[in-house]
Amino acid sequence: MVILLENNATEQQIENVVKHLEDYGFQIHKSTGVQRTIIGAIGVKPNFDTRKIKILDGVSDVYRVTAPYKLASKSFKEEKSIFDIKAVKIGDNEIAMMIGPCSVESEDQIFRLAEVVAKSGAKILRGGAFKPRSSPYSFQGMGVEGLKLMRKAADEFGLLVITEVMQISQIELIYEYADIFQIGARNMQNFALLTEIGKTDKPCMIKRGLSGTIEEWLMSAEYLLSNGNSMVMLCERGIRTFEPYTRNTFDVSAIPMVHKKSHLPVIADPSHATGLRDQVAPMARAAVAAGADGLMIEIHHDPENALSDGPQALLPDQYLQLVEELRMIATAIGRTL
Ligand code: PEP
Ligand code: MN
Repeated sequence: MVILLENNATEQQIENVVKHLEDYGFQIHKSTGVQRTIIGAIGVKPNFDTRKIKILDGVSDVYRVTAPYKLASKSFKEEKSIFDIKAVKIGDNEIAMMIGPCSVESEDQIFRLAEVVAKSGAKILRGGAFKPRSSPYSFQGMGVEGLKLMRKAADEFGLLVITEVMQISQIELIYEYADIFQIGARNMQNFALLTEIGKTDKPCMIKRGLSGTIEEWLMSAEYLLSNGNSMVMLCERGIRTFEPYTRNTFDVSAIPMVHKKSHLPVIADPSHATGLRDQVAPMARAAVAAGADGLMIEIHHDPENALSDGPQALLPDQYLQLVEELRMIATAIGRTL
């Protein structure tokens, strides 16, 4: 941690800052310049609240030099994490495709779409059974019936299942039907839920919160890792900015940034990131080029009548065409899809 004192900080104020730091257990390196004094505070305290120093008289700024996340960091584990989920690898050279409808709507719908998913070579079926909707009047998902249908369709076509778990009381039920838990954007900082998922042995994908910084997102992963679940992946799904033309703003730079800071796989979701069908393919291509370890994409055979997120769903043919393009990009960067 680096502490910058104000230009006019008095000797007494500087001494007071030093005393506080020493009391907190830091080793001090003081550099007295002509204009101002800078203090380097050394000590492995990843969770130290820098505000304790920031509020002291005479302090101008405090900078943290070590990250607050530990188990998610590259310094803890240099090589990329690769998860083997029933022989499907995530984080390896092959880009993992998680494809399906926003919501499971009927047996016919999920079977038709699972067939498209399998035909494309993708190995993971996505679909919501418990839906986090902005309006309580919107379709809330089929619940347990949706889970059963998705499992049945996935088994029929040899696919894995990823689905969202919204609350602690759903963990046991969803554990039975899904291969990967999904923590939705709205629950990225539901620490009680993260803690409980961390105690299970099922892989989990954490979507980035609507206003989540990359550091906060990695701290959410840390909740799972520190509770014993090492199979954590992250999903960039767009963040809220001032731009209204797209539903969210796809932060493509989050992909290489997470790879720089962490060993965990990063999935990209261009569907929720843009909210518009015609924007999904360009952003999916960008995500693969940026090094995403997987893609989550929503598809629907009748988007006009979809019960949720129809405007962002690709038609099966559009999706199959996109997969061809993505394969070329993957090849160009030495990956497969
Ligand atoms: C979803 O994937 O169905 C979903 C609700 O996404 P998000 O949490 O990113 O909004
Ligand atoms: Mn959706």
